[in-house]
Amino acid sequence: MHGEVGGALFDEVVAELEVLDPALAVSATGALPGLRDRLEQRASAAAALLDGHEEGAVLRVPKSRLADLQQCERLAVARHARPDAGPPGLAALRGVALDRFVLLEVAQGPIVDPVEELLSVLDVQGELDTCDQVVAAASADPGFVDDLAAAAAAWRGVPRSWWPRLQSPAVAQLADGRVVCSGKLDVELGGVLTPHPGVVVEVKSGAPRPAHVEEVALYALLVGWRDGVAPSLVARWYPDEPTACMPVDTGLLTSAAARLGDAIEQWAQLVVGRRPEESPGPWCRWCPHAAVCPSAAATAGPTPGGLADPDDEVEWEPPGDEVGP
Ligand code: SF4
Repeated sequence: MHGEVGGALFDEVVAELEVLDPALAVSATGALPGLRDRLEQRASAAAALLDGHEEGAVLRVPKSRLADLQQCERLAVARHARPDAGPPGLAALRGVALDRFVLLEVAQGPIVDPVEELLSVLDVQGELDTCDQVVAAASADPGFVDDLAAAAAAWRGVPRSWWPRLQSPAVAQLADGRVVCSGKLDVELGGVLTPHPGVVVEVKSGAPRPAHVEEVALYALLVGWRDGVAPSLVARWYPDEPTACMPVDTGLLTSAAARLGDAIEQWAQLVVGRRPEESPGPWCRWCPHAAVCPSAAATAGPTPGGLADPDDEVEWEPPGDEVGP
């Protein structure tokens, strides 16, 4: 399938692709238009709810909001109202660092000075606040991301013919642009414009969680609609775990579309004033309302490394009008 030399991650992905039934991706691609039609109907009904509330408003459901809604509606509303509440926390900062180390390994090769090279990338990307947080964390522990930089070596040598793309957006505009669903993909390999099957890889610095499976399923759906072809494989890469690969089939895309439709309807109802439900869980630890919410989980203690969701990174959203409850 390839004749070029790649790194450990790439070898794992290629091994999965070599045993994959190509018919799965073909039938998944065939299901994309029908799934889109059904979601268009749900999105149009959700957009109609906004009429009379705020004319011309755009309902936005990025991946991060969908994840919040699945945990707790009140949490989703609280984070929307205060998107930058609290420091990112050490765990979230390490997640940002790992994404940048993967970028460095894919783009240029070995990382020699992790903190300095991380600061260089963040500076180029205009992430100056994050630079300050990295400097503060490094002053307390100069080696705080050394393990992540070492793990990112697994990404070394991905062949150019697979056209690795990092932090690329995938957006679905529904209901004549009144509803926008978006995600930012950590890594894409292959796909249209290359001779190889499409692969989407989510980079995670924390421990595996069931919600990560739903994240990559959503990405498969958004990429399928964006490119007109479903990716063949979605994968989750963790520094200390085997790469978790899943073939993209019709069932995976159907489940993702159903969850997205549910989230669109939920968010529309909340935007027009429905009282958000409270659903306590481990996520109470990073909820902006944890101190005042009567339902806050009794077990909610301090979040390791800070206030933010250990996996959280500010989710990219396309520019445009915003609405909120
Ligand atoms: S504290 Fe827990 S239950 Fe209350 S709003 Fe936050 S996440 Fe929901």
